[in-house]
Amino acid sequence: MDPVEKLRLLGPATCYEPAEEVSLAGRWLSAPAGLPPDLSGCIYYAAMPGGRRIPLLKTLLTSVCERDCFYCAFRAGRDCPRATFTPDELARLFFQLYQRGMVEGLFLSSSILGSGPHTQDRLIAAAEILRHRYGFRGYIHLKIMPGAERDQVAAAMRLANRVSVNLEAPNDRCLAALAPHKQYTEELLQRLRWIAELRREWPGPAPSATTQFVVGAAGESDRELLRVTAVLYRHLGLARAYFQAFHPVPGTPMEHHPPASPVRAHRLYQASFLLRDYGFGVEELPFRPDGNLPLEVDPKLAWAREHLLETPVEVNRAGREALLRVPGIGPRGADRLIAARRRGRLRDLRDLRALGIAADRAAPFILLDGRRPACQMALF
Ligand code: SF4
Repeated sequence: MDPVEKLRLLGPATCYEPAEEVSLAGRWLSAPAGLPPDLSGCIYYAAMPGGRRIPLLKTLLTSVCERDCFYCAFRAGRDCPRATFTPDELARLFFQLYQRGMVEGLFLSSSILGSGPHTQDRLIAAAEILRHRYGFRGYIHLKIMPGAERDQVAAAMRLANRVSVNLEAPNDRCLAALAPHKQYTEELLQRLRWIAELRREWPGPAPSATTQFVVGAAGESDRELLRVTAVLYRHLGLARAYFQAFHPVPGTPMEHHPPASPVRAHRLYQASFLLRDYGFGVEELPFRPDGNLPLEVDPKLAWAREHLLETPVEVNRAGREALLRVPGIGPRGADRLIAARRRGRLRDLRDLRALGIAADRAAPFILLDGRRPACQMALF
């Protein structure tokens, strides 16, 4: 199989791994225009930290796996086409696409070929060739394999702009229902702890770290997922958690398990941003008695209906923390609002709209110079 044929197989295989290309609203961004159709499943416009968008090549290094995770298309023994890049092949192919202006960054993940450390060596080798032989200075996101050694984690971090460890589940009980041969703490969580330790000692800007959860396959609740997410944000400096709604794959032990709602994953993203950027604690989130978030309403809106309808926030006086509790006001909107009210009092929803704030969404929960603005309640 030539390298382009391998890419046609291994690129779309990363559809199970959401990464930078997921927009804040949880939608996929489109592939660049003019791409050869056979590569359109491998290259996406990705949103970089800071908002810049670049065409990102997403691929596995190999789809051959020694593990047998219950949900996975590439589990050992499943009949499916497989391929493996050598590090050299992958680096050369990427650089050719880069020279043609088709890609600007690389997301490189892998199944486990031989062992976690062996696969990690190959991922590192591909990135080393790109950095040192081809002099590539652009964006690289490298996956950290289960069981990778601490020195390998450090080596990957020296080469990459971002590294990630797929936790898949919020705890060992749930992981056992998905991946019988993965060890939650020793093989996965410990790698995220090492990344956090290394980041603290890093000379200069450290690479960021992310993780991914499979949602709706292991009986986990949203509260369990968001509790661990909050710990990862607060204590391990995680940049982002990704939530992949489970979808059954034919020929796996979970082929008859019902798919998870993508809306559930979307609500988890919204709630995780409340934890990361808005100062919410996990137990403040509006969980139902079963520990899941309501699907029909944005969690921030649900919280505000319960807490702010009777006690609206006076936008001319409230601190940043209180402003961030108001639906329609995000971190940038809060900063702009605080700067604007130093120049003069805000008296009208038009004043908020001029600051880029979703004023109609905010209206039921605010006072403008002591008065409630006229409004209609948002439904979602
Ligand atoms: S380790 Fe598990 S999830 Fe990863 S590729 Fe192998 S079978 Fe799939």
